[in-house]
Amino acid sequence: MDCLHSVLHYSNQQMQNNNDRRRKPPKKYSVNRENNRESLKTCGLLLIQKMMMRIAREGQGNKKLCMYMDEMLHSIFFLGHIYEHRLTPREFFSLPKVLETVSSSFSEPFKKYSSHLPTRTPFSILLDMMEILYSTKRLKEELLHLLKEMKFPNPLHKPGSKQEQYYTLESTVICECSDSDSQKYYGASLCCRKGAAKEILIDLSCLQLWHKYVSHAVMSFSSGGGDGITFPGSLRCQAYVRDRKRNVYEEKQPCSNCGRMFNLQDANPDKVEYPFGNCAETECLSKLLINNQYMRENAVINNHTEEKLEELRSSTEARLIKQLVKVGIEVSDNNLLFYDPFQMQTGD
Ligand SMILES: [Zn+2]
Repeated sequence: MDCLHSVLHYSNQQMQNNNDRRRKPPKKYSVNRENNRESLKTCGLLLIQKMMMRIAREGQGNKKLCMYMDEMLHSIFFLGHIYEHRLTPREFFSLPKVLETVSSSFSEPFKKYSSHLPTRTPFSILLDMMEILYSTKRLKEELLHLLKEMKFPNPLHKPGSKQEQYYTLESTVICECSDSDSQKYYGASLCCRKGAAKEILIDLSCLQLWHKYVSHAVMSFSSGGGDGITFPGSLRCQAYVRDRKRNVYEEKQPCSNCGRMFNLQDANPDKVEYPFGNCAETECLSKLLINNQYMRENAVINNHTEEKLEELRSSTEARLIKQLVKVGIEVSDNNLLFYDPFQMQTGD
């Protein structure tokens, strides 16, 4: 993947496009907002453009960042493909020149978006990229700048209709956790709000991404059980929701699902409608368990055995395969193929 050169080339081309744009203002964004398909397309392209620019300018074409970019493109294309009003990878790009540059530098996502599965959403990948670019110290602040720049539509609901939600790629909530305020880890809530995408992404993360305790807890609660995790007292875990008007992150209580799954104090007792595993706490606590030995050795989970985990995994996999077939993903011989640019790199 000759990413370094092409990202720089992209950046130059993008500056040219931005100049063109200043001369001829684009169609009003508000027009796009009326249509969820357009919204997904616009958000996808914005995220791709902004991150490619940042990699070129501030990341000096860092190789790891390029691989995250590759993974992000795949995740966006996958979401476009499984969306009820399907979007092909090409449809995300309005300018042929930009499509050509991106597809020649990142060819794999264009080939594997419907045969291979992502393990997380574009926004989760964005968090890892922001951490490389700005370190955890400046992550929240820089994320706010980026979100302000991108102007995604408000994902919560259209004015006057709580049922109808815009499809954007922004996770409204992020979570920060650590062991006694040492190394901080970040996670995001699920940003895909439409159709089966949310359930599919949760199942994929359970099977392939999250620490086994977190996967166990999520799968157990989703199937009517209740095997929660209790963390040592040194756990710090704080979620933040973005106030869109002031563009600041404000502290947010854990929801009742997370309160039960992770035995978090001060959880909001109100019943929630989104599925277990949806919240930012899930990804964040999983990262903490994967990276922090003390947490891993001292967290306690009820009824955890390899057999129980395997049982939960098989039923999750069976449900997932049915869902994937419904949304047009090729699953051959019940064999799930995951997309992993890091593994492809070492395989080369
Ligand atoms: Zn929650």
